[in-house]
Amino acid sequence: MKSTENDMILRVAVASPLYQLFDYLPPIDSDLTNLSPGIRIEVPFARGKRFGVLIETATKSALPRERLRHAVRCIDSDIVPQELLALCRWAAGYYHHPLGEVLATALPTLLRRGQEVNETASNTWALTAAGQNCDVETLARAPRQRALMQRFQRAVGYRLDRSQLQTCDFAWQPALKALLDKHWVQPCAAVANTENKSALVNLNVDQQNAVDQIQQQLGSFSRFLLEGVTGSGKTEVYFEAMQAVLSQGKQCLLLVPEIGLTPQLSQRLQQRFSYRFVSYHSGLNDSERARAWQDAASGKADIIVGTRSAVFLPLASPGLIVVDEEHDLSFKQQDGFRYHARDIAIRRAQQLNIPIVLGSATPCLESSENARNSRYHWLHLPERGGNAMPPTVGLIDMRRQSLKGALSPMLIAHMQKTLEKGEQILLFVNRRGYAPALLCHDCGWAAKCQRCDANMTVHHIKHCLRCHHCGSQRTLDKRCGDCHSEELTTVGFGTEQIEDTLKTLFPYQHIIRIDRDTTQQKGSMNKLLNQIEEGQGDILVGTQMIAKGHHLPNVTLAAILNADQGLFATDFRALEHLAQLVVQVAGRAGRGDKAGHVLIQTHHPEHPLLQTLINEGYQRFSEQLIAERKSAELPPFSYMALLRAEAVDESLPMQFLDSAKQQAELIANNTAMLLGPIPAPMARRAGRHRAQLLLQAGDRRSLHALLHQWIRQLSNIKLARKVRWSIDVDPMDMN
Ligand code: ADP
Ligand code: ZN
Ligand code: ZN
Repeated sequence: MKSTENDMILRVAVASPLYQLFDYLPPIDSDLTNLSPGIRIEVPFARGKRFGVLIETATKSALPRERLRHAVRCIDSDIVPQELLALCRWAAGYYHHPLGEVLATALPTLLRRGQEVNETASNTWALTAAGQNCDVETLARAPRQRALMQRFQRAVGYRLDRSQLQTCDFAWQPALKALLDKHWVQPCAAVANTENKSALVNLNVDQQNAVDQIQQQLGSFSRFLLEGVTGSGKTEVYFEAMQAVLSQGKQCLLLVPEIGLTPQLSQRLQQRFSYRFVSYHSGLNDSERARAWQDAASGKADIIVGTRSAVFLPLASPGLIVVDEEHDLSFKQQDGFRYHARDIAIRRAQQLNIPIVLGSATPCLESSENARNSRYHWLHLPERGGNAMPPTVGLIDMRRQSLKGALSPMLIAHMQKTLEKGEQILLFVNRRGYAPALLCHDCGWAAKCQRCDANMTVHHIKHCLRCHHCGSQRTLDKRCGDCHSEELTTVGFGTEQIEDTLKTLFPYQHIIRIDRDTTQQKGSMNKLLNQIEEGQGDILVGTQMIAKGHHLPNVTLAAILNADQGLFATDFRALEHLAQLVVQVAGRAGRGDKAGHVLIQTHHPEHPLLQTLINEGYQRFSEQLIAERKSAELPPFSYMALLRAEAVDESLPMQFLDSAKQQAELIANNTAMLLGPIPAPMARRAGRHRAQLLLQAGDRRSLHALLHQWIRQLSNIKLARKVRWSIDVDPMDMN
């Protein structure tokens, strides 16, 4: 058959759970020359339309021509860059996830829909000439607009950026919108203020050595693990390495674990560099995301700072990738396309032939092992930068102590001393809410979630019970659900309760609570942190959110109220995560010029690994844990994938996994171990029963070869349509 353009068949990755490309005819009346791989395209799918990306063109299809449908339209003429397409294809292969869904995760919503990017989406705004000359008193009846105008008029260059606006104590977006409509304010490109660049720090020997080594590798792929104690000046090392890249006219991609960390980092970037930067995270709206994407793709932005999904931003002229806090679990997406942004970043650096720096005070064991066997260049910063001293760490034995709530007498005494010196205290609690359980004192009944195998958390302030797994909520039970007794008591502690205890113990101190409940509003986290950094707040109580990277110079005492959960959890990674948490929390203390002190409350002060961590440091601890993992043949000495299944019907997930296991056994031929199926640790969540089957192999290749064949057969299992199933490669969380 003669191949003409009329025969062109489009092979499209469609956002759907199926592991295949779909064939279409070009859109009717389309210009075929536009149809190059990477173009975004809308296609008919089942009875609706879906987003897709053209992967390749062909002249033949397995389907007869008359069954092929025409694509609806090309979304626009921009294409997804080939490099990014290649990365997504690799990721789809590695994570055994359908390419269409990978692409849908990678691309901002607006680009999938082909909607116009709103031009007002910006990160920086400035007064127009009219705005500079207007009389703000005409806004007397719009106090927020007036306040905003006054801020603009006082600002350098009449210009404010998002992080500055977020310090407003009112809703600034509607006011800004009104001012944009009045043409008094307009979006403008972020211009770093060149006037006030912060003085460069003098790098110490270790920092300089790290920078030198990274700079020697610019222009080629190499992996660095920058292991530096908290406060050792890792960020300064990134900045110095970035400086070299930026001055060559190349871009830097900087990945951070938490959206909460971007404002502080943005501030530092802005103080340091005169380059343009964009940030990319879940706090942005659709237009802002699309805009950031375009700025990264066009090269308008030199520095791109973002959370997990920023690893998929197109880059016009990439020169360096940095992953800060590389051990952090939030780099791993826990649903849908379960990728690990750090691992994708490494692959991307390889593909781009540029260096990548993974930085952490507490590298994950996988990275440590890679450094130890020289696959990564290992850079060490053993000392804190500047004058800061390392914090001292002590354990508090909780046994037989008379506690005030969750606080031991020893901790309270230390807190008093710290407060007398006018310094700040940080208390870490792993739960928000008042208490993690409500029990009947007469019969032992516990208030359970009706949809999950989990206790309800008591929230006193909102006067309700909430399930932290499915989000369901009900009013506080007044009586036992079994014996109707009114003797209900709470068990355990959450941030709300600690706050209450602190208020009675320290009635004259300013207590700030930081958890998901107090930081729901956009920008509120940043506002609280700024307050704390300015020295407001005597005692800070918070969850994970406060443990990460923030720089709080006046905090000199940090405490972990309960370390015991991490010591005895069933998950083999629990100890690693506990140690990381301890070090991170400790890292918040004594970052200024005052010495810091860290206290850990536990009922098991003799625990050997805890002892190693405290007395010999994280690196020794991680060596010991690595030795344990090695003898148990656990990652990083073996490779895992988890097949999960869930259904409303209790028996279906296990049945499905049984069949799946039989299939896998035939393919695996003893190259991999199949463990299970077993019910998931939380056997029911949000009304669905859950089970899992673990695959473990001694080498990555045989695991992936097995997955590749198996995944394509799974959908043939009769039950595959009755359960929701998903595969998790390199699972981080076995729940
Ligand atoms: P990390 O990223 O390792 O936690 P940072 O880069 O945030 O550490 O540095 C912690 C603090 O120490 C910052 O205030 C930083 O300005 C300061 N610092 C880092 N390196 C030096 C140095 N060589 N000299 C003086 N101060 C430094
Ligand atoms: Zn009861
Ligand atoms: Zn629930």
